[in-house]
Amino acid sequence: MSSSASEKTSPASARSFERYVPVDHTRVAFDGGFWKSWQETVRDVTIPTQHKRLEEEGFLEVLDFDNPPGPLARPIQPSGLSMQHFFDSDFGKWIEAASYTLKNHPNPDIEAKIDAIVEKLEHGQMQDGYLNSWFIRREPEKRWTNLRDLHEMYSMGHLLEGAVAYFEATGKRRFLDVMIRAVDHIIDTFGPEPGKLRGYDAHEEIELALVKLYRVTGDPRHLKLATWLVDERGQMPSYFDDEARRRGEDPADYVFETYAYSQAHKPVREQTEVVGHAVRAMYLLSAMTDLAFENDDPTLKDAADRLFADLTGRQLYVTGGLGPSGANEGFTRAFDLPNETAYAETCAAVALGFWCSRMAEIDLDGKYTDQLETVLFNGALSGIARDGEHYFYENVLESHGQNRRWKWHYCPCCPTNIARFITSLGKYFYTTKGNEIAVHLYGANVAELDLDGTFVRLRQDTAYPWDGDIRIALGLFEPTDLTLKLRIPGWCGGGARATLNGRDIPLAPVKGYAEVSGTFKDGDELRLHFDMPVERLYAHPAVGEDAGRVALRRGPVVYCVEEADIGTEPQRLRLAPDARLEPRYDADLLGGAVVLEGEGYEAAADGFDGGLYRTAPPALKPKPFRAIPYHLWANREAGAMQVWLAER
Ligand SMILES: [Zn+2]
Repeated sequence: MSSSASEKTSPASARSFERYVPVDHTRVAFDGGFWKSWQETVRDVTIPTQHKRLEEEGFLEVLDFDNPPGPLARPIQPSGLSMQHFFDSDFGKWIEAASYTLKNHPNPDIEAKIDAIVEKLEHGQMQDGYLNSWFIRREPEKRWTNLRDLHEMYSMGHLLEGAVAYFEATGKRRFLDVMIRAVDHIIDTFGPEPGKLRGYDAHEEIELALVKLYRVTGDPRHLKLATWLVDERGQMPSYFDDEARRRGEDPADYVFETYAYSQAHKPVREQTEVVGHAVRAMYLLSAMTDLAFENDDPTLKDAADRLFADLTGRQLYVTGGLGPSGANEGFTRAFDLPNETAYAETCAAVALGFWCSRMAEIDLDGKYTDQLETVLFNGALSGIARDGEHYFYENVLESHGQNRRWKWHYCPCCPTNIARFITSLGKYFYTTKGNEIAVHLYGANVAELDLDGTFVRLRQDTAYPWDGDIRIALGLFEPTDLTLKLRIPGWCGGGARATLNGRDIPLAPVKGYAEVSGTFKDGDELRLHFDMPVERLYAHPAVGEDAGRVALRRGPVVYCVEEADIGTEPQRLRLAPDARLEPRYDADLLGGAVVLEGEGYEAAADGFDGGLYRTAPPALKPKPFRAIPYHLWANREAGAMQVWLAER
């Protein structure tokens, strides 16, 4: 990632924030361990099959600009939106996910498929730069008339992210130039200047994409547009009201009733609770965090921190899933965390990871990276099957077997989102600032880092997350002064130890990061040990759904019990508070995983005599059970699953 223009022009001392810059994902190779097989699966299976689905399902047909549009692949909903309005976003996100693989694993076939899409986009782009396949082909006169419902900037934002990723992977400018023209068109159309529309898209996305563009182009207009879109959001009177009246509609007829759905009910700096559509909220917060740095604006970071505290203190599933309700694909009220009806969209968990990593760039605090790790191993990874070609949109925490992974979705936003998260995973592991290396995540990999001209090779050998022992070996051309900031995971409590070249060194973490400084030489070896006991987690008593229940976690991995392992619905299972729980590595389970084995009880139906109720509680029979990592559920035969287990 290139450094930003503002970094070059402002003295560091005058700024509120200094940024730890992510290491480019192409410099981090997962050559073994947990993520190797996931990255290979996504690269070799997910990326090609997703393109196949995009073709089969008519997503790429929308680019056939020389012919009249065919019948709708997705009907119009009561809001006036068809999923087809934002098909561009789906192939935009696919291009982004695929691009992240191309530098280290060139694939002429995938590259040709991307080039074919880019050629059509360029061909279809209007003279003035406007680019959206729906409006160009179907309703050109209606473009920019409904930012509240129809996702035009959202779709362009995903194309823009795809263009930046493809440019960085291949050096080819064509797609990037198409999208810069599209951004120029938005700048010509929207803004505070007289004669321009004061509108912003109800579905955030383009804001963070514009910051990515700015970091490539250095063009201050790109940053200015992102800033204005965020600042304008939620200003009253609402642009969405004015726009509805211009369409001859009554703003009161808005199908989602409140602009909180789009985090546009009040200016972003005045918001104190995460509300509305969860993916939108996370994309907005990602952009706010980027802009806090780029504009050196602590007011945006303060607002983001208030919302982070609300989210993590009142509205987040133990898996890192978020947004419990399908009705608004988002938040409802504090402590409303139903398990079986959890919406907890994969995209929202992925986007929470995007946001948390950005927060940690400008404020190195383990509270952010702990959440990044939680979604990574749980609520996001659960969105993709072990085979790499089946998915979850909703990530429930309890099922009676009705939830099965699907091959493609009616609204396939999630598959490409989890794909881009995994293909770019390296950039979430390390950030650097000066001669400092912040190590956020653990997992076997080898990273090549450039610190102010000094080359550092950093290798992690570990079976993490199955094991809490990590060996970090440094490769250096000459003795070098370095500072390592090592994340001490919040879950490990006081159980962290370290040695440097075999000698114990003290760990005194500040905000979740322990500093190890000194003159390092080639071959220096740091060993970390994190205690990884099986933990029993209890929910805040206001979460009525989880009363009398316990969730199991070991390290960063949250567990569930699946019917496939115990032969009965886990809803019948009861755990004694002191039940023995033993971790064991099972090499045969879906590529290998640590499972938890324990002794519980099964509530027996004996004595109910066909009735539904009786005055005595059910008899309890001893029942051995095993729990598997939540992210691996629904990869075997259909059956019930539960994360929050009843205690007896
Ligand atoms: Zn989604």
